[in-house]
Amino acid sequence: MADQQTSIVTGGAGFLGSHLCDHLIARGDRVICIDSLITGSLKNIAHLVDRPDFEFIQQDIIQPVHLPGPVHDIFNLACPASPAKYTLDPVHTFNTSVIGSQNMLNLAVDKGARILQASTSEVYGDPSVSVQSEDYRGNVNTVGPRSCYDEGKRAAETLFHDFRQRYGLVTKIVRIFNTYGPRMSLDDGRAVSNFIVQALKGEDLTVYGTGEQTRSFCFVEDLIHGICRMMETPDNIAGPINLGNPEEHTIKELAEMILQKTHSTSKLTYLDLPVDDPLRRKPDITLAREILQCEPQYTLSEGLDLTIPYFRNLLPGLDKLRVVAGG
Ligand code: UDP
Repeated sequence: MADQQTSIVTGGAGFLGSHLCDHLIARGDRVICIDSLITGSLKNIAHLVDRPDFEFIQQDIIQPVHLPGPVHDIFNLACPASPAKYTLDPVHTFNTSVIGSQNMLNLAVDKGARILQASTSEVYGDPSVSVQSEDYRGNVNTVGPRSCYDEGKRAAETLFHDFRQRYGLVTKIVRIFNTYGPRMSLDDGRAVSNFIVQALKGEDLTVYGTGEQTRSFCFVEDLIHGICRMMETPDNIAGPINLGNPEEHTIKELAEMILQKTHSTSKLTYLDLPVDDPLRRKPDITLAREILQCEPQYTLSEGLDLTIPYFRNLLPGLDKLRVVAGG
């Protein structure tokens, strides 16, 4: 198709990236998915790889990316995103956000493409305000276990801002709050995936700390909608804009909801709270509402009802799975 637009999704074989690829293909784009497969999985894009409008390139964006032909939109999602995975090789995690982002920004300059950065609520660190709006500057430890991710993502935001100033590039930043749904990695140690897997296997649910810490969980479909709306905004809208669902729950409430929904007889067991684990996290989504006209469509209860069957279908494989747990 002559007027078909080409979009690049880095991290396109990951949980969020693969859903984004699906969405872009469905709206008629040609999609180039770039993924190192360090945490992404070919299983997430298996249904796309034979399509003529989909191309998969296995590459780490820490290496410069060169591609022939026009590119319209670049969605930069590449980076391990769960604490259990991004702390495994912290130098690589940091470089993925910083050098990787710079490589994709250079490609955007070459192609005259718009580019969106998947930033994160982690830029707020362990927040000292209970609802985080975009003008809150955060409370981040520069030398803790989470710093490689938090500081890498913060530096990436700076690079996006500086490329906009320096080269007139059309840049967009969204800050993604905890998101869940089908295709979450089984073994990445996240609360939602750990609890569902543990409940289905009849194992104790590993709650870290008292379980009174909070998160606000967003269903993947709402998140992808927000990302696409952000990319479609006029060129002068750069963000950052928070994307998430402000429905806040304690981790204990999440665990109990999953026990009830899976009809599991598992119990809660309490382990140490990881270092620098944020106590409260809840997005202020006023900007997303006003600028993107985004309103979350799924409650946590509704989203879990769509997520649990995904893990249930993997149940035979769950026998062999050792959940990454231990705060
Ligand atoms: N958590 C937990 N048990 C688990 C995994 C996570 O209690 O098996 C807690 C974790 O300490 C944090 C919250 O759940 O307070 C959310 O953790 P997750 O890794 O899902 O996301 P993030 O910490 O990045 O918000």
